[in-house]
Amino acid sequence: MSQHHTGSCLCGQVSYELTGEFKKFFLCHCSRCRKTSGTSHCANLFAPGAELTWTSGAEHIRFYRHPDSNFARAFCQTCGSNVPIDAKARGLVVVPAGSLDSDLDIKAQANIFMGSKGNWDDNLNQAPCFDAMPS
Ligand SMILES: [Zn+2]
Ligand SMILES: [Zn+2]
Repeated sequence: MSQHHTGSCLCGQVSYELTGEFKKFFLCHCSRCRKTSGTSHCANLFAPGAELTWTSGAEHIRFYRHPDSNFARAFCQTCGSNVPIDAKARGLVVVPAGSLDSDLDIKAQANIFMGSKGNWDDNLNQAPCFDAMPS
């Protein structure tokens, strides 16, 4: 079922609309995702055949391609937020889940590349939870 989603970067200069369906939702713990996100994993949605439209700020998007792998990242040049990649050669759009402003009706399906996760990345959801910064 085709769905409509919207998203944007942190500073708001880059925004997009996506029409399509998310088929896969992976949390990737590889070293490249760890470096680029500064945290334990990237949360990426994969939408084959989806249509991505930049509604603002396309000129602010920059790309990084890792020289030794397929890893690529698109990000806002002002705030550094990850934004979707329209991987036309692969016929799909890769959307960083955190860039979405609309809600998802799909849950993460798998943690991948756990073999190269950080040694501190273990049962992170067992740490105590607070609604805001604890005092
Ligand atoms: Zn931005
Ligand atoms: Zn990764």
